[in-house]
Amino acid sequence: RRDVTVKSDRWVTDLYTVDSLLGKGKFGEVKKCQERDTGRQLAAKFIEVNGPQDRNDVLNELEIMKNLQHPRLLQLYDAFEIRDKFCLVMELVNGGELFERVINDDFILTEKACVMFTRQICDGIAFMHTQNILHLDMKPENILCLTREGNRIKIIDFGLARKYNPKDDLRVLFGTPEFVAPEVVNFDPIAPATDMWSIGVVCYVLLSGLSPFMGESEQETLSNVTLAQWDFSAEEFDSISSEAKDFISKLLVKDPRKRMKSSECLEHQWLRRSVKREGHLP
Ligand code: ADP
Ligand code: MG
Repeated sequence: RRDVTVKSDRWVTDLYTVDSLLGKGKFGEVKKCQERDTGRQLAAKFIEVNGPQDRNDVLNELEIMKNLQHPRLLQLYDAFEIRDKFCLVMELVNGGELFERVINDDFILTEKACVMFTRQICDGIAFMHTQNILHLDMKPENILCLTREGNRIKIIDFGLARKYNPKDDLRVLFGTPEFVAPEVVNFDPIAPATDMWSIGVVCYVLLSGLSPFMGESEQETLSNVTLAQWDFSAEEFDSISSEAKDFISKLLVKDPRKRMKSSECLEHQWLRRSVKREGHLP
């Protein structure tokens, strides 16, 4: 276990060589970097802060990453703060966003690959839920592949993650319309089930390349979400197994109390399929 404390007496460039851009999100710009002392290849997320609320958000992301040690969750390596900037140094994940696999027409995502991805996603999220932490931003941009060809992934971006206490009445108003759960849109209490909805959407997208709630406008998308209006009528689902459909049907349920939990997902027929043949992932 690596105990990371934020360094404020020097900046990332004092200890690391910063390289090319890996990706951009809403809050951060992520660049490849190399630790000078060890030659280790890592990723540096640069976040600008405007005011104390922003700063608290970054400190929250840091605190959450520190507390989550799991092979399916991106690990923190080092952290820096100067003036109005933070830099989080993290493991480097080389295979690109899972999102790219979905939109890449040359690369057909087989159902077997989807099982592999979904099992790992549920594994990582189940661990977070045992630690009483909600991810709250599950989508294919926040899931990275370890290699270009392989089927191993890591969950990233704990920027919206929250500590969760079942006794608290936690409500949030953020996320990505296509992936966000109805209780978020309605500003109702959220729970671990809120992540499970998003996993249901991710799974739907992986299997079909289609987004179940996408409307002509953001307003329409959000309205489709709150109505929990979706189906398997697209022809992309003709060749998909009934177990896969059952799995999604148990996640895209409007009432969060009736949704399958992360631990139950791992016991579902669809994810138990071929575990024996492929073995468990390291
Ligand atoms: P934001 O909070 O702004 O959404 P993310 O943490 O999601 O920032 O990072 C933005 C993008 O940068 C990701 O979608 C991904 O493409 C890339 N990225 C993030 N972390 C890594 C990493 N450890 N290794 C490789 N690429 C990364
Ligand atoms: Mg992101």
